[in-house]
Amino acid sequence: MKKQLKTILGYKVERPFLVSGPCGAETEEQVMQTAIELAKQPVNLMRAGIWKPRTRPNSFEGAGEIGLTWLKQASKVTGIPVTVEVANKKHVEAALKAGIDVLWIGARTTVNPFAVQEIADTLRGVDIPVMIKNPVNPDVELWIGAIERMVKAGITKIAVIHRGFSSYEKTIYRNRPNWEIPIELKRRIPEIPMLCDPSHISGKRELLLPISQLAMDLNYDGLMIETHINPDKALSDSKQQITPVQLGELLSKLVCRKQSIDDTLTLRMIEGLREKMDNIDYEILNLIAKRMGIARRIGEYKKENNITILQAERWDEILQSRMQSGLEKELDKEFVKKLFEIIHHESIHQQALLMNTIEEEVKKN
Ligand code: PEP
Ligand code: MN
Repeated sequence: MKKQLKTILGYKVERPFLVSGPCGAETEEQVMQTAIELAKQPVNLMRAGIWKPRTRPNSFEGAGEIGLTWLKQASKVTGIPVTVEVANKKHVEAALKAGIDVLWIGARTTVNPFAVQEIADTLRGVDIPVMIKNPVNPDVELWIGAIERMVKAGITKIAVIHRGFSSYEKTIYRNRPNWEIPIELKRRIPEIPMLCDPSHISGKRELLLPISQLAMDLNYDGLMIETHINPDKALSDSKQQITPVQLGELLSKLVCRKQSIDDTLTLRMIEGLREKMDNIDYEILNLIAKRMGIARRIGEYKKENNITILQAERWDEILQSRMQSGLEKELDKEFVKKLFEIIHHESIHQQALLMNTIEEEVKKN
């Protein structure tokens, strides 16, 4: 297969751009041994947390500034450039002084515009590459805001890292991926290189490959995967780290599909199908508009006869029957449920407008 060369953060690399290394720099030997093993893999940038933002106190909070020298030494021996997480002015100044090649802003920092601005102000006039992780909460605007703060400070080499979002509910993920959010970011800023961090999304080794594969199939440019020379003994995030050798195994199973369609026959086939899809989309919109018209007519009757908008039994009957019908058509039950919740919500909104209950408020806003 033809090599796919891309420029990411100023480095001309083959896709996927690979960032790897331990969650945290623990000792000089651990950093050096990990680096030597990583140099046998196609790693473009070595990561290690020097200052670790931990959820609870009394956990390992990183080796601190001394770790910067370990990383620089490892980089000198292996030739791999290095990156650390920065969360404030002091971190940025120390990392710049040590000659760290790339900085990254962690999820717990992106969430705080004051902290991001402090980093941006410290970086003014220093065009170092910066990677920005998504904020912990599912807010695309906050993520974009952090990018804008860096751009305004004069940073020209920027990439984003999707590491998933916190949620109260327990799921199979450590941080729910909410793929629609990075997809929306890519729609708004198509030129931005996007990396996926399956380590923090999954929180466990078994999910690293399927998440990395999905990210590659969603056209991501690279991956950030945590590796440790002895993962079970790691002082932070031990369940999700793998050895550099296991990283190699993961990469050998990863299918890296082409980012664009380059042969005319395939292009023509896909274009034909896309045209059919476009027509169906317009049919769907026509049908939804018709359905809303009927909802408004029902709303008129409810208004004239003083009947409440929500009729819980009718709604339950709609939901159950549509999910059943969807199942018969091999549509995912949860998808059909979400679809009809959105449609029903809009019908209620239309009827509420008719009944004047929220009309004034809506006009005011
Ligand atoms: C990390 O990369 O080790 C880290 C702290 O990640 P996040 O900011 O995604 O929590
Ligand atoms: Mn980590």
